[in-house]
Amino acid sequence: MDTESLKALVMDEIDSHRQQLSELSQKIHSNPELGFKEVKAATWLTQHLEENGFSVERGICELPTAFRGSYGQGKPAIAILAEYDALPDLGHACGHNLIASCAVATGVASRPAMERFGGSIIVIGTPAEELYGGKAIMADRGAFDNLDMAMMVHPGAHDAATTQALACQPLEVEFFGQAAHAAAQPEAGINALEAMLQSFTAINSLRQHIKDNARIHGIITDGGQAPNIVPDHSAGIFLVRAEDDTYLDELKQKVLNCFIGAATASGARLEYRWEDIRYAPMRNNLTLAQLFSQNMQSLGRLVPLSAPSQAFGSTDMGNVSQIVPSIHAFVAIAPMGTVTHSPQFASAAISEAGIQGLLDAAKAMAMTVIDLVANPETASKVKEEFQQQK
Ligand SMILES: [Zn+2]
Ligand SMILES: [Zn+2]
Repeated sequence: MDTESLKALVMDEIDSHRQQLSELSQKIHSNPELGFKEVKAATWLTQHLEENGFSVERGICELPTAFRGSYGQGKPAIAILAEYDALPDLGHACGHNLIASCAVATGVASRPAMERFGGSIIVIGTPAEELYGGKAIMADRGAFDNLDMAMMVHPGAHDAATTQALACQPLEVEFFGQAAHAAAQPEAGINALEAMLQSFTAINSLRQHIKDNARIHGIITDGGQAPNIVPDHSAGIFLVRAEDDTYLDELKQKVLNCFIGAATASGARLEYRWEDIRYAPMRNNLTLAQLFSQNMQSLGRLVPLSAPSQAFGSTDMGNVSQIVPSIHAFVAIAPMGTVTHSPQFASAAISEAGIQGLLDAAKAMAMTVIDLVANPETASKVKEEFQQQK
């Protein structure tokens, strides 16, 4: 069977399972589970894979809701990544229910290509994207070693074959001062809240002189207990983001200096902790992105390589993209301007447009899988590009 017939088969296979995929996506949406607690979603997704002939390992990387389902053997080993965690209060306001169904749909539809050309298709269940950077943990534990390519598609308000995502590391900060009556004996106090406020001021001054697209933002999680007590403790969480790892390291030190300076000025003692989870910047593989875009185009979706307006967040897919040639594409399921992590986006994630986005993304990824296994020179080009980016 040639690639065109295989691609036609992919379309039929995915269209004929529209109802089943829609129900799976709906079920995950109505049962939102937070990061590392996605027990139901992981069960349903792995069942779906097993029913379709995949061999499944559950609880990989010592994470109970992570999984790996594989079909076929040997090289190339192409991974499709699933996310299925929800957000506190908002449920599936990032549409991860669609990512999950899309990933298993792609895996199942890719089976005939593995049988015809060889190679393996691997659906990897990656929990806790939102709150804990599950893929960063899994990357450290080797989940993405020995793969040749990795792909995923995220729902959004625009179509794009690539994602701009910044390197990012969270910082937890505490100041310890001395409590005192704020009116009767203010001179006896050391104000931990003032130290935190000075830090914000220093960071805002720093912000004028940082590179474009770097970001520093934070919140105060403890600002004192009562207005008549000099706060003896303050705490905050900050995120520092930059376009590359080198500048992130440089910026981290500059941000830290803001807190050190505030500690000196106020007399409060500083304690800080850079969190272990560090998000890597997204390294887009443009060869893969082009294939995906062409296959989307064959479905009538014009998918530019990059989004019309660049929005910079961070994603744990960045960590995967440093290990294996990757794409993290976007498929539009909501009108332009709709923001993710909103109730409007949660509704879009169960709309007809949501299901259509899921099906189109699955078809385009499965067709990209066909391009890769059918043309070893294309697969080599993907790998060469990755090596050159290193
Ligand atoms: Zn999100
Ligand atoms: Zn998301």
